[in-house]
Amino acid sequence: MSNFLRMMYGRYGVDNLSKFLFSLYIIIFVIGLFYKNFILDTIGLLLLFIVIFRFFSKNIYKRTKENQIYLKIKNKTLKPFKNIKRNFKERNEHVYKKCHKCKTTLKLPLPYERGIKHAKCPTCKNKITFLCLRKQKIEIIKDNERMKK
Ligand SMILES: [Zn+2]
Repeated sequence: MSNFLRMMYGRYGVDNLSKFLFSLYIIIFVIGLFYKNFILDTIGLLLLFIVIFRFFSKNIYKRTKENQIYLKIKNKTLKPFKNIKRNFKERNEHVYKKCHKCKTTLKLPLPYERGIKHAKCPTCKNKITFLCLRKQKIEIIKDNERMKK
């Protein structure tokens, strides 16, 4: 064990980029079970090699830099989908809407009725008009038995 620890001392290990590359490798590996393709196999091996290389690398500065670049690209790519994700996650509670004038994202309570809604951006006072197809759900806390008959 101490030999292993000594070997691992100063090595870079795992980060977000490695996890992402490893997930890609797994996907390619699974595809490979059904569909044999030389190019895919090569890409898969290359990915695995990069993950292992980065894990044992002693150039921590360079690996950290790579990870930062990866996170930057990831954030930029996922940014347009952020509100879609939020709206889905809180579909029974809130509406997330972007102000087209100042690009601020507003968190609004769900309206009582579906339809065209208005809101005022607190940052730039711009009037936002949007269509909301969701409405607040009324939950039943206590069922009145007598009303059922
Ligand atoms: Zn605004």
